[in-house]
Amino acid sequence: MAGVSSLVKTHPAATQTLLARLGPQKVLTDEATCFAASFDNMRLSFMPEAVIRPGVEDDIGVVLKLANEHRVPVTVRGRGTGNTGASSPIHGGWVIHLDHWDKIEIDPISAMATVQPGAITARINELAAPHGLFFPPDPSSLKHCSIGGNIATNAGGLRAAKYGVVRDHVYALEGFLPTGEKVRWAAPLRKFVSGINIRDLWIGSEGTLGVITKATLKLVNKPAARRTFLIACRTDEGALEAAAELMGLRVNPAVFEFLDTQTVEAAEKRRGSRVFTTAELKGVEATHAILLVEIDGHPAALAEDGVKVRAWIGRHAVAFRETDVEAEAEALWDIRRTCSQAMYSLGNAKLNEDIVVPFRSYVELIRYTREVRDRVGLATPTFGHAADGNFHVHIMYDRDNPEHCRKAEKAIHEVMTKVVELGGAITGEHGIGIAKSPFLRLQHTPAEIGAMLAVKKALDPNGILAPGQIFEPLNVWEHRPVKVTLAWDKH
Ligand SMILES: Cc1cc2nc3c(=O)[nH]c(=O)nc-3n(C[C@H](O)[C@H](O)[C@H](O)COP(=O)(O)OP(=O)(O)OC[C@H]3O[C@@H](n4cnc5c(N)ncnc54)[C@H](O)[C@@H]3O)c2cc1C
Repeated sequence: MAGVSSLVKTHPAATQTLLARLGPQKVLTDEATCFAASFDNMRLSFMPEAVIRPGVEDDIGVVLKLANEHRVPVTVRGRGTGNTGASSPIHGGWVIHLDHWDKIEIDPISAMATVQPGAITARINELAAPHGLFFPPDPSSLKHCSIGGNIATNAGGLRAAKYGVVRDHVYALEGFLPTGEKVRWAAPLRKFVSGINIRDLWIGSEGTLGVITKATLKLVNKPAARRTFLIACRTDEGALEAAAELMGLRVNPAVFEFLDTQTVEAAEKRRGSRVFTTAELKGVEATHAILLVEIDGHPAALAEDGVKVRAWIGRHAVAFRETDVEAEAEALWDIRRTCSQAMYSLGNAKLNEDIVVPFRSYVELIRYTREVRDRVGLATPTFGHAADGNFHVHIMYDRDNPEHCRKAEKAIHEVMTKVVELGGAITGEHGIGIAKSPFLRLQHTPAEIGAMLAVKKALDPNGILAPGQIFEPLNVWEHRPVKVTLAWDKH
């Protein structure tokens, strides 16, 4: 089961010193534990020398100070659901694993949650719900990922267009500088403008600027009602033009998902049946695109928006279903939930990008993905968040076929170049990690990257925290993914 090990320097003396200071309960060096901490959902394995499961906060200070003394790379790990290899210790060294730090306290009066970084995101909502509150950021991985990982990647989710991303819901952070000193950024207060805002620098910095040990989060009132619409549009372009029109009608959907024709086709193949019946599709036999719209809020406001949405559907849809019944909504969600796995019918491996483009470029982007498909000969199923332009463009290929790998690499470079040309972003929620490091220079000028590196150097002068991540282009094609089944693969 050994993974791909990187050619890295080892630090046996430093690891022995750490073992002596923290003990074998907290410093684990066995192969199984190291292997489990060596990869994330990207599945490229880089073995660490030790996995540290701190007992108390001071343990983290001890680890970081020793790491600086001996120049040992340190990578922080949440729950390893990341898609970019950001929690993989690509230079070896030590992994700080915080999944057991999972306490959550809800303050219903302030509408705040104080959480430890290992807390599973969905659990925050379970505890907030009895108080009529919820934590809106909802990555699809929310039953598996940690809030520490969400903060470090500034995760987004299905409800981001209406409610915002993680950054919009963090009041305060506590943790450790890479050099081992304890710090607090902002406070559990609704307003705080004292000093330079390093809290927001930590958010989305992918574990490169500090170790988060506690966060105070903003909760919001849980909407009283919701209504879900599943809509079939004849073409990809038709669905995307309709999406822009709905946003212009000032309906503020909580969820607004687009599934292109390739995605719908793959999902229908997996289900063994069509989503809409032939009778519903009124003679549209060819595959169609799908929009999933959910509006939520006070029932009176919902009724008003419902009228607007139905009129809009009348102008654009070939078929639709709607419901305000929870169990029926789940059935409408089914195709969206299964589409990510369904596309493996189009290739045994995928490059899963999370690019963002402005509304004016939606149609051009989808046309370009099909152009790449036709030119390169690899499927490019695309789905994503139609309200904020954050689309998951996939390149499906056969990992065992070197010709396919070459084509996929070329295709992804072309897509990323196009995205930047369209005024877009190479990542909207997953981050850079190692997966997108080869594209960083497409997005940013040397001056911008220089400024980022200057911040990194100022906070982490010895470069011990997550070295190689974000800035060091890694040729991921040289590394074979490990064959493992992870908890979320079953969905
Ligand atoms: C099926 C599936 C669906 C997904 N859907 C979405 C989605 O809709 N939206 C989305 O944004 N992402 C999504 N993701 C990606 C992933 O779930 C997120 O990036 C998530 O935020 C990672 O959390 P984690 O706990 O697994 O972090 P990890 O993968 O363990 O780590 C991610 C990064 O956070 C850093 N980190 C973790 N904890 C800390 C800490 N305490 N202090 C400092 N740095 C830390 C790590 O060093 C690393 O850089 C999905 C992943 C899967 C597998």
